[in-house]
Parts: sequence; structure tokens; C-alpha cells
Amino acid sequence: MGEFELIARFFNPADAPAPDERVALGIGDDCALLHPAPGQQLAVSSDMLVEGRHFFADAAPENLGHKALAVNLSDLAACGAEPLAFTLALALPTERARDHAWLGAFSHGLLALARQHRCPLVGGDTTAGPLNICITVFGQVPPGQALRRSGAQAGDDIWVSGTLGDARLALGALRSEWALPPAALHTASQRLHRPSPRVALGLALRGIATAAADISDGLAGDLGHILHASGTGAWLDAQIASDLIAINPFLLRANGQYDSSGALLHLPTPAQRLHSALSGGDDYELVFTAPAAARTAVQAAGQQTATAVTRIGAITAGSGLHLRQPDGRTTPLAARAFDHFGHSAPPPP
Ligand code: ADP
Ligand code: MG
Repeated sequence: MGEFELIARFFNPADAPAPDERVALGIGDDCALLHPAPGQQLAVSSDMLVEGRHFFADAAPENLGHKALAVNLSDLAACGAEPLAFTLALALPTERARDHAWLGAFSHGLLALARQHRCPLVGGDTTAGPLNICITVFGQVPPGQALRRSGAQAGDDIWVSGTLGDARLALGALRSEWALPPAALHTASQRLHRPSPRVALGLALRGIATAAADISDGLAGDLGHILHASGTGAWLDAQIASDLIAINPFLLRANGQYDSSGALLHLPTPAQRLHSALSGGDDYELVFTAPAAARTAVQAAGQQTATAVTRIGAITAGSGLHLRQPDGRTTPLAARAFDHFGHSAPPPP
């Protein structure tokens, strides 16, 4: 199968999301033509997934397709932008290009999420090379309404969507840092491999949130970006952070603390759970700020979009990020995101 046949079969199948009024021309010409609503700004973001860095060679292709688009849609969500379309630049090892089961599953995971978010694939590039998946996503947002990192004000509440730290718990189990009982491991792995971009919530937060970011590198790091851009400090509630993990102590115990051979499992300790919630990456939830006067509006945005929202701390006039312990003590917390060039590289999930 040649390059063009491969593109037609796997990336432009008959059941691909149909181009709509926002896409004047899709796959097949030298350019795609997009038609954002009159007067709206174009929101653009790219994310790359590299084999050996972001995933292992044996990663399930359907999950890979899902995640490659999900992490890009998550950036649109963080800006309060509505998805329009995306492009896919794909480097494929020759043996992968011949593996139709792999390509079919990859395309299925990718295009199912695209359909769900009305975000059609409109073009790209395909080349031989080490597996590398680069997606660029296009969205639209009315001028002045994009959620940015720089708008947080002292006194604003800090909110997060969904649950935090579960993807890190799955990663730790894969790396044998601790063990999770089967059902907890399943829940955590879904979070790691099939993140749900919070697009609807991002849209509902337009005009309410003062700043927002998506959590790809951990709450502390991504909130750190907001603090840096806004010139503020913040504190986070340690108890609320621990409670935000879906894999709660009840679920751990309910699943049994013993593996099938009867050996005692090394469950993650409370400190490891807190660290996962604060610094674990790959959650793809939103962290955002809003004035205290907007609490009802934030709750309503969560309800409208069926997304849990939790108030976890507040922005301060100072600098730096602090953790507030249940006994009222505050301790400094490094507001540092994972840096591919700054730290030793982590093994991929
Ligand atoms: P060009 O040579 O002009 O760059 P190509 O021959 O590479 O175009 O691609 C032919 C068409 O297929 C173009 O419309 C391009 O956008 C599209 N395309 C190429 N690779 C992909 C892909 N991986 N996913 C979706 N569309 C693709
Ligand atoms: Mg080309």
C-alpha cells in the first residue's frame, strides 16, 4: 500500500467526521480551507507524541490515537476555544505502515474522539521514520474571551476539574513503585491512556474564569505557569488535594490489599498519593481561577457540562506556591513543571 492509499484508507475513510460549514476544504488538496465564524479569532496549538519518550512501542494503538488528539483538544479547552479541525503529521516506521491492524486501531481511536468533539481531520503529512505523532488543532474564540494564563488576581479562588493524580498512580504501578488492586489499576490506567479533554467546561468558563491552564505536567507545575504569568502566589489545601484522587483509600481497600497469590500489595502511601495529586502529570484536567463572587457561576458551569469542579485554594499577592496542611501550617511547594531538557528524562508510561 502506497502513501496515498494509506492516507485515504486510514485517515480519510468514508465514516470520518464529515466536513461541515466550518471546513470549506478537507484532505486531498495542497491546503485545507477553514472557515471560522465571522469575527472569531483562530486558536492554534500543536502537541507531539514521540515513541520512547511519551509512550512505549507496544502501546495500544487505539489509545495512542485517542491520546494524541486528546492532549491537543485539552489545550483548546484551557483557552476556552471551540474545536474546528486538526491536522496530523505522522512519521511511521516501514513495518508499522504495513501493519493494517495497528493503523486501523490508531485511526479508530483518533477519529472517534474527533467525531465526539466535531473536530474533523483536514490534512497532514505522512513520512517514513521513527514513530512520531504530531497534531495541530485549530479552534475559534471570540476576541477578548480566550482564557489565558495571565489573568489571575490576588483573592481569586483556585479550582480544578475532575480528579487528579490517577494517571500518576497508574504510571507508578507500571513502574513498580507501588501496586494497585486490579479494579483500581483499571480505573487509573483509563485516566493515563484515555484522558477526557474538558472542552465543554472550557467553553462554559468563558467570561467567568480569570485564568486557566490544562494539567499536563502536574497541578503544581501548571498552576505555576499561571502564577508566573499573573505575577501572583497561591496556596493549595493539602487535604482537598489528597481527596481529589479517584483511586481513594476506600477503593483500594474494597479491592483487597492482596494480589491473587495472597501476597500483601504495596499500596501507595498517603504521601505518595498526595504527591501524585500535586505533581503527577497526564491528568488533562483544567486548573483555573475565578473571583469568589463567581462561585455560583463556576458551580453552574460544572453542572451544565457534567464536570466536577473543586475549589482547592486561592491566589495570593505574594509569590510562590504553598501547601496548607490540615493543622493550618503552610509549607512551600515547588511550582515546577516537568521539563524535558531540565530533568533526567522519565521512562515513558
Ligand atoms: P503535499 O505533497 O502537498 O504536502 P501530500 O501529498 O503530502 O501533500 O498529501 C496529500 C493530501 O493528504 C494533502 O491534502 C494532505 O493534507 C493529506 N495528508 C497527508 N498525510 C496525512 C495524514 N497523516 N492525515 C491526514 N491527511 C494527510
Ligand atoms: Mg507532503
